[in-house]
Amino acid sequence: MTQHYLFGGSNIHRRLECLGSAVEEPKHPSISSAAADRGTRMHEAIEALFLGRIGRTSKAYEDLPEEDAEIVGGTLSDVMDFLHMNDVDLCKATIETEKTFTWGESAHVGGTVDLVVHDDDHLIILDYKFGRVRVEPLCEQLMFYAAVAILTAPEGEAPEHVTVAVAQPEHTSVGGCVRYETHNSLMFVDWFKRKVAEAVKSYEAGEIYYKLGRHCGYCNGKATCPLQIGTSIALEAEDDPSVKLDWAENALPLIEAIRNEALMKLEEDEDCIPGWERQPKRAVARWQGGAENQLIQVIGEEARGSKLLSPSQLKKKFPEHTKMIDDLTIKESSGYNVKRKKD
Ligand code: SF4
Repeated sequence: MTQHYLFGGSNIHRRLECLGSAVEEPKHPSISSAAADRGTRMHEAIEALFLGRIGRTSKAYEDLPEEDAEIVGGTLSDVMDFLHMNDVDLCKATIETEKTFTWGESAHVGGTVDLVVHDDDHLIILDYKFGRVRVEPLCEQLMFYAAVAILTAPEGEAPEHVTVAVAQPEHTSVGGCVRYETHNSLMFVDWFKRKVAEAVKSYEAGEIYYKLGRHCGYCNGKATCPLQIGTSIALEAEDDPSVKLDWAENALPLIEAIRNEALMKLEEDEDCIPGWERQPKRAVARWQGGAENQLIQVIGEEARGSKLLSPSQLKKKFPEHTKMIDDLTIKESSGYNVKRKKD
């Protein structure tokens, strides 16, 4: 399992923008999402397939849906082409997958890199990205991995040049889905010392600064962040509607974070927040298995547009079939809301 560091590759941009995130995020459990779970499965699959391709024992992975398996296969083939183009001798180079580096004595700083290839004085750091937001190879995450890898290399084995690479199938071009840049290793080390090492020093000295911005988007510490909460209080005295609307845009993730936080607490102990409780969300009607065939037989092709219409859409269109539609649906709640208790 991937180790999470207080200062790690995936959070380093946020930490550098707002050191307060290193204080607030550990107070809250991380929330998994369907997109993150899919990304993890695809990472496991490509790692296993890669190890198989270079003649090492394959790691087991969960079977992927056909569409994802195709994406993983295409990505792997582009990665093999990229290694070939960079003259990597797969028999000679040191190749490691899911390689963890830890820097410094505090164990606060480190990261796990998807693929590390060390060939003579050349180091390749490659990260798979299965999300949509385009990531450039010379981003803070990869610069961080490169610097930690260089700084923790055994004496005399530090590379002279480092290639940082991103394999991102959502952004494939003529040359494939791998984008990369090569730089002298001193460039990465210099950046790390000026930015990361200084931020870690400030954190350890208790000199914490907070800053609101786009980096707040994925911050898991919003529910207790003094700036997020302070802004909402200061706004009571604000008259300008455009200032209030700007704030409202940023407030939505904060409100969601506060609700999620409360829901998690109530799940563990339903009496822990006086006056508040978990209530199931309103049940939504959805089709039972096999409903589509029956609907097409009775109603015909009009029961679907590009896909099968929802139960409420069909009832509106064919009120005479309301009874059959009800028989073919089940009602399900998709989770919980936090609500004030009724007296
Ligand atoms: S929400 Fe934004 S300002 Fe608050 S701790 Fe997180 S990153 Fe910092």
